[in-house]
Amino acid sequence: MARPSVKIKAKASAKVRRLAHGAVAPQPRTPKVGFVSLGCPKALVDSERIITKLRSEGYSIARDYDGADVVVVNTCGFLDSAKKESLDAIGEAMNGNGRVIVTGCFGVEEDRIREAHPGVLAVTGPHQYEQVVSAVHDAVPPLHDPFFDLVPPEGLRLTPRHYAYLKISEGCNNRCTFCIIPSLRGDLASRPSNHVMIEAERLVSAGVKELLVISQDTSAYGLDLKYAESPWKGSPLKARFLDLSRALGDLGAWVRMHYVYPYPHVDHVIPLMAEGKILPYLDIPFQHASPSVLKAMRRPASQEKTAERIRRWRDVCPDLAIRSTFIVGFPGETEEDFQFLLDWLKEAKINRAGCFKYEAVEGATANAIEGAVPEEVKEERWHRFMAAQKDVSSEILREKVGSTIDIIIDEVDEDGAIGRSKWDAPDIDGNVFLNGEEGLKAGDIIRGKVVEADEYDLWAERA
Ligand code: SF4
Repeated sequence: MARPSVKIKAKASAKVRRLAHGAVAPQPRTPKVGFVSLGCPKALVDSERIITKLRSEGYSIARDYDGADVVVVNTCGFLDSAKKESLDAIGEAMNGNGRVIVTGCFGVEEDRIREAHPGVLAVTGPHQYEQVVSAVHDAVPPLHDPFFDLVPPEGLRLTPRHYAYLKISEGCNNRCTFCIIPSLRGDLASRPSNHVMIEAERLVSAGVKELLVISQDTSAYGLDLKYAESPWKGSPLKARFLDLSRALGDLGAWVRMHYVYPYPHVDHVIPLMAEGKILPYLDIPFQHASPSVLKAMRRPASQEKTAERIRRWRDVCPDLAIRSTFIVGFPGETEEDFQFLLDWLKEAKINRAGCFKYEAVEGATANAIEGAVPEEVKEERWHRFMAAQKDVSSEILREKVGSTIDIIIDEVDEDGAIGRSKWDAPDIDGNVFLNGEEGLKAGDIIRGKVVEADEYDLWAERA
């Protein structure tokens, strides 16, 4: 099987072996499900929930297409390129196995999926966990075996053991013109604060060292619940970004905030970063900086003077890292708008940035905005953006040389260890390389002296 996570499969099979050792009578054959998970961390969390549910019912996770009784493909439908990748993945699963259930964001386009792959068994939309599980039951009935108790209390995860995504809400109340997520996932629906905390505490007890808080709009957390309190450790805990950040910070793991918008109340969370309660890191998908483009995009908090706000945040927490994503070539973006963005990037000292060339997403209201930017102009702006970002990033990382920093180890290989600093999220940001270091393992948090830097990564020696 080309795509499913090797880690989840290895973990699941180890547990099956343990059960087999303890069994006295031959067991009926365990039904096996293959899983292909595409898209963003939010989709990954959906996959984890589905897998957890299936494991609790006695299914095991197949290592490859051949060994699976059915394959679930969790798709992404955000951009046309993602839809194409999803269709290809479904095709690959159809060729490799032939019994395929499709779920996820692209699942809302059932007609298109069935037109390309008429043989798929079922198609469900995003976070329709029950429907996916029931489609799996239809395809391969579960074993009713009371001895199946293979699911750890923290659930099953597709990430390495030492970090985990923690989803605090679904959906989004914003209506950015380039985005169809609210039509796919609905309005903001926050989880009660104690539900989030129970999950977070279980993860930390199971060995998770870093919690990556995700949602579509993390700083809006609890708005739909009117910030309702729920009991946590004998006291009421409000469903509010600040209160939740503080409570998560008390668990003793690294806490990293993703998908935060620069609403004024975010100011109150910065002191928690300065105190070391949560990581000095904010993932804020700005998408642009020019006021006219932001207005056309209908971005949340677009009226805020963000460069000024970031400067104030850094007065409170000097080593705050900002990671962001940007879109170039949005309809109507002029050369002036683009230059504004480049200047802003340098002024705001955005530590890490991803850049996308604008793609018209089917169903997005931005498609009706005049002034489409030609592809070659998008391409040229993308290169200029990346070059400008490289300069900003190099300069920030050069300043780290000689300092001693905390490093979380992600993997160990023959050259030493590969980790990350507090300013780097897994998969999307940079690394810290510890060449020649021995005796480390994934999940260790150590102190290291930075000896070298390039545009995106650091090299360090154990301090
Ligand atoms: S904030 Fe905007 S881009 Fe993000 S999910 Fe909501 S509508 Fe989409």
